[in-house]
Amino acid sequence: MTCPFCNNLMEEGIIQSSQELSWKKGIKRPVFGRAVFHDDSIVLSKLSYMKGSAVKALLCRKCMKVIIDCADKGSDLNH
Ligand SMILES: [Zn+2]
Repeated sequence: MTCPFCNNLMEEGIIQSSQELSWKKGIKRPVFGRAVFHDDSIVLSKLSYMKGSAVKALLCRKCMKVIIDCADKGSDLNH
């Protein structure tokens, strides 16, 4: 895929964590608690106690942006 910002070819990779990976609406600093406790949040990768969490992500090394396709259930490597 090419970057929608600069048309550079994007690189496939993953973002991983030892905690659940989620997007939380309106939060501007790290907070504790799973997405289920925050309204309108989206789980990017469910937590596996054996593997942690991981989500596929595309990196544009030119403009240093990362894209995660939340609509693709295959993006969550623990789904
Ligand atoms: Zn770019």
